[in-house]
Amino acid sequence: MTVETFPVGPLQCNCTILGDEATGEAIVIDPGEEIGRIERRLKELRLKVKQILITHGHIDHVGGALKLKRLTGAPILMNENDMMQLNMMDKQAAWLGVATPETSAPDGSLTNGMKLELGVEQGQVVHTPGHTQGSVCVHFAAMKLLVAGDTLFRGSIGRTDLPGGNQRQILESIHSRLLVLPEETRVIPGHGPLTTIGEERQDNPFLVLR
Ligand SMILES: [Zn+2]
Repeated sequence: MTVETFPVGPLQCNCTILGDEATGEAIVIDPGEEIGRIERRLKELRLKVKQILITHGHIDHVGGALKLKRLTGAPILMNENDMMQLNMMDKQAAWLGVATPETSAPDGSLTNGMKLELGVEQGQVVHTPGHTQGSVCVHFAAMKLLVAGDTLFRGSIGRTDLPGGNQRQILESIHSRLLVLPEETRVIPGHGPLTTIGEERQDNPFLVLR
């Protein structure tokens, strides 16, 4: 299994390509920007995108999704509770002082417990509201891998001061749905360096004080 993460766009959103060499299929998570670069990498890896997953509806994570869908034909999946984020894309763009990217309603919702398949690997959607109401993480248990969006960062957690944010709820999501995962689980956050569940359980100042 190929797991490749690289930051895209001015806010350096971590875009992740999960690729299965045997079937040549890939899942792309959070293609926020730099779609040309993502497409080039997919070609180099000889991967064909089967699904585009969006961890939440913030501009830096979803901004390039429609472009990638048009290039690949792959469906876009995002939790339905973040439709409000798509509907205020012009506002999100104005906050950053950038042009409003074209978006479209997702082709399906990422609901809690929903199964994902990539080759022989099985993933599961974990709904973790708090950063936004539709924030999700993607967990591949056998690979011990969690793609966490903006819910959990190395040494930090997602901000909750934007529309749809709720601090009590993000803490509840992290404690009840993420910190219960095996400590060796590698975490790919939505921004910044990678970490593990064990490290965050032990050292994350937002989480150890409860
Ligand atoms: Zn965000």
